[in-house]
Amino acid sequence: MIVHNHEVVIIGAGMAGLRAALEVSKVGDVAVLTKVYPTRSHSGAAQGGMAAALGNLDGDNWEFHMFDTVKGSDYLGDQDAIEFMCRNAPELMYEVEHMGTPFSRTPEGKIAQRRFGGHTLNFGEKPALRACYSADYTGHVVLHCLYDQCVKNSVRFYSEFQVTYLIVKDGICRGIAAWDIRNGGLHVFNTKAVLFATGGYGRVYRITSNALANTGDGLGLALRAGLPLEDMEFVQFHPTGLYRSGILMTEGARGEGAYLLNKDGERFMKRYAPTLMELAPRDLTSRSIQTEINEGRGVQSPEQQAKGEPGDAVYLDLRHLGREKLKAVLPQIFDIAENFMGIDPAKDPVPIQPTSHYSMGGIPVTIQGRVIRDAQSTEVPGLYAAGECACVSIHGANRLGCNSTLDATFHGRHVGRTIARDLPSLSYHDLPPEAMREAQAEMNWYFDRSSGTENVADIRGELQNTMQKNVAIFREEKALTAQLDIIQNLQRRFKNIHINDRNQRFNTEVMEAYELGNLLNFVETIVVGALEREECRGAHWRTDHPGRNDVEWLKHTLAYREDGKIRLDYKPVVITRFQPKERKY
Ligand SMILES: Cc1cc2nc3c(=O)[nH]c(=O)nc-3n(C[C@H](O)[C@H](O)[C@H](O)COP(=O)(O)OP(=O)(O)OC[C@H]3O[C@@H](n4cnc5c(N)ncnc54)[C@H](O)[C@@H]3O)c2cc1C
Repeated sequence: MIVHNHEVVIIGAGMAGLRAALEVSKVGDVAVLTKVYPTRSHSGAAQGGMAAALGNLDGDNWEFHMFDTVKGSDYLGDQDAIEFMCRNAPELMYEVEHMGTPFSRTPEGKIAQRRFGGHTLNFGEKPALRACYSADYTGHVVLHCLYDQCVKNSVRFYSEFQVTYLIVKDGICRGIAAWDIRNGGLHVFNTKAVLFATGGYGRVYRITSNALANTGDGLGLALRAGLPLEDMEFVQFHPTGLYRSGILMTEGARGEGAYLLNKDGERFMKRYAPTLMELAPRDLTSRSIQTEINEGRGVQSPEQQAKGEPGDAVYLDLRHLGREKLKAVLPQIFDIAENFMGIDPAKDPVPIQPTSHYSMGGIPVTIQGRVIRDAQSTEVPGLYAAGECACVSIHGANRLGCNSTLDATFHGRHVGRTIARDLPSLSYHDLPPEAMREAQAEMNWYFDRSSGTENVADIRGELQNTMQKNVAIFREEKALTAQLDIIQNLQRRFKNIHINDRNQRFNTEVMEAYELGNLLNFVETIVVGALEREECRGAHWRTDHPGRNDVEWLKHTLAYREDGKIRLDYKPVVITRFQPKERKY
């Protein structure tokens, strides 16, 4: 086993990991491990923009942004954390600009800003122009800019290294083990500090906007190390995924003025969100679309028409924006509609359906980015998390569009500063031999599965299909309970998986199996959290428990895996300026 020493190891090279690496590289020796090449991280797929109340085109200010984020979160977001981010977002945006990000521009040369769901002026009065963007390639340009900066600062990258094991002993994180995908072999990293920046887990669902790599590995690693996961029941379904594939059609399309239509050509959002219409927050818009579909007003595919079956899509109508504007501000959306559906969006409306998109929950951290192990906020020395895999909590029960790239970059920078501050008081620790043996034994297990009989793709498919059916936009007790049984059965079957390929190099069969094992490990936290939370809040909607219940449920969930079962605990929500109110849009 090859052993490396780096003062700080960052797992993940998305916006959170890269921005943190940049900060730590100013004071210490930092290595970034990533299972895909850095610029292929999912952050690069972000289309619509990054929120900051620059007020370049209207009278926006950070307090409106804070209010919208709190209200968008259905009052579950921690308001001290939200204030900290929104207040400092403009300064962060200018920093990203000055590093070299080519933002789209206003006629006088300022950063251009567009509308996005749930972002308003004057505490809900009308939509705000808050999303800073670069056409619909925002994530791509910001990620490349951050990568350039890291290379300039001599950050050491281990690309195509898949972290498989977290070495924690006596409550202290001592390092990690990672599989070298390209050459084969397990490497151990002895380190003073580990930062999780491993992104989301959209691949738990069949219809998702997420990259294949988004399998929530960091969450599985944390849970296995005895740490809790926070608010896992809150999973965001983005309203507009391309029909069937789930590929994202950015909310920026609606920000530029696109409509949602049902099969009768009606702009149905007027019945659900009369003020903000298509620019209502995502939880509400996705539920509205699903309600149209469930009540028989969905758009039919040609096959459904032929068979007389009800439709399971609605239309995203971009036609009135005109070809020239579409090509200028939404070029990627234009191409996706043409290439994946054969539709010219300047001529025809595009069928869409909600797609699993974002994880509000994750590894619980303090505002400073230090991982905590319980409701008393006991910190785990040397362990940090930022970006989509972390739960600060900014997004509470529902994230607003454009707040995630902001969250990842902002908290990436901030946790980088925390680590830089903590570093003098952190030290290397001995690596326990039993942990290294366990990490190696685990990989050996995968390479030794030629006599197994279960197919990895079948198990994964069943997990994704059943999660899509039982734990999606609308939830109820019977389906959630059934899903727990299904998962436990899949976990049993997983123990008998078959792996054909025994090559050490680029063995994607083993890596995918590892990812599935990981999904099966933490997915129960979503279901158990959803089963216990008997209310409707943000993206968590229990049809058998209507209404939000602040008396009993205005609290964060912490889920632990203990003795093979999920145990839940709760911690209070930080409320500073905005008392919970009914959410109307
Ligand atoms: C299609 C799409 C469009 C989006 N558009 C927007 C938008 O316009 N605005 C917005 O605010 N948000 C948007 N989001 C959400 C936002 O992009 C993400 O939440 C955010 O970029 C996540 O950043 P991150 O750094 O936390 O993780 P990611 O960018 O997902 O990076 C995760 C990193 O972790 C690494 N990793 C994971 N597991 C392992 C492992 N086991 N070993 C080693 N490395 C590992 C990966 O290789 C990768 O480098 C969008 C998301 C999607 C899917």
